[in-house]
Amino acid sequence: MPFLNRITTDKTAGRSMRPVYSVSKEKITMDQNKKAVLMKRIEKTGRNLVKNNMEFYYADTKEDVCPIVKSLLKEGDVITHGGTVTLTECGLKELLESPEYNYLDRSKMTPEEVSELYIRAFSADVFISSSNAITEDGILYNVDGNSNRIAAIAFGPKSVIIIVGYNKIVRDLNEAEIRVKTEAAPPNCVRLNCDTYCAEKGQCVSLAKADRQISDGCGGDGRICCNYLISAHQRHKGRIKVIIVGEELGY
Ligand code: SF4
Repeated sequence: MPFLNRITTDKTAGRSMRPVYSVSKEKITMDQNKKAVLMKRIEKTGRNLVKNNMEFYYADTKEDVCPIVKSLLKEGDVITHGGTVTLTECGLKELLESPEYNYLDRSKMTPEEVSELYIRAFSADVFISSSNAITEDGILYNVDGNSNRIAAIAFGPKSVIIIVGYNKIVRDLNEAEIRVKTEAAPPNCVRLNCDTYCAEKGQCVSLAKADRQISDGCGGDGRICCNYLISAHQRHKGRIKVIIVGEELGY
C-alpha cells in the first residue's frame, strides 16, 4: 500500500500550509534513533521550505514518490525534466509516459531536438528535477554546466517538482558548496564522461586553495560547474514543490 499519510497543516507561521506527508511508525526500518533525528531534520527543512513559499512533501521511500508526483500533475500537462539520477531511481518514467500527460522525453530525441527541448521547457506546465543540495533553512542549491536545468528551475515552467533524497540535506550554503565539490560533481563528471580534475581525484581542485571562493574550480572544457543557482524565498508561492525522500538518492 502506498505510504502516504496526509497529515498536518502547520500553523507555526500563523497561516495554513499545504499538507505534508508524515512518517508512519510501522514503516520505520532504519535504526529508530537515527530515524528520529533524521525526521527532525527533514521536518525543520520542510517548515523552512514552506516559509520560503515552496510546498513540502515527504516520501518515506522512493516507491512513495510516484503517487505524490501524480497528485501534483493534471491531465494534459506538458512535462519535462532535467538530467537526474534521482528521477530514474524513483521509477517516474512509467508515470510520465502515461497517455494522460504530454511527456517530452529527451531520451528519445536527436541532439538537435534536445536543444529545442531546452527552449520548449520554459513553456512546459511541469519541470521535474532533483537538487544538488537543500539547506535546513529551506534553500535549494544547484550548479550546472549546460544550465538548462537551473534555468528552468528559476524561470519558465508553471510548476517545478524537486525530488531529493535526505542525503542532500545540508546545514547551510557553505556545506552545500562542499557537497557539490565532493559528492555531486565528481560522480556526475564520471557519469557524463567529463574529463575533469574531480573525475580523476574524487573532489574539486578548488578545495586545496586557501582563499577559495564558491565559483573556484577547474578550467577545462569538461567543467560542469559553470552557473550557480540559489533558490531562496520565492515570489511565486507554491510554484516549486519539494519532495524529500527518507532514503539516499542520487548524488
Ligand atoms: S569545478 Fe571542475 S573540478 Fe571542481 S567540482 Fe566542478 S567540474 Fe569538478
